[in-house]
Amino acid sequence: MARTCSCCGYPTLIRVSNTSRNPGRQFYACSNKMLNCGFNGWVDEDNVVARIQRDRELRRLQLENRNLKIVLVLSWMLFVAVLVYKL
Ligand SMILES: [Zn+2]
Repeated sequence: MARTCSCCGYPTLIRVSNTSRNPGRQFYACSNKMLNCGFNGWVDEDNVVARIQRDRELRRLQLENRNLKIVLVLSWMLFVAVLVYKL
């Protein structure tokens, strides 16, 4: 998943770390050679953030869906009450 540099806005490239602390770990690197912003975050941590945001959005939609069902049932009950009791 492509993303832009947080300091200059250029597109980032996915590189593989070869340091002893993070061997083989993928990270975003700025493609702007002039500014040399360099490191722009780990790819695996970016995926975690994206998953948390998706889960949060899913819970919000489930809650909204439940609330709409309650409103639908209540409106039908009101409709039936109007028919039966001629309110
Ligand atoms: Zn940059």
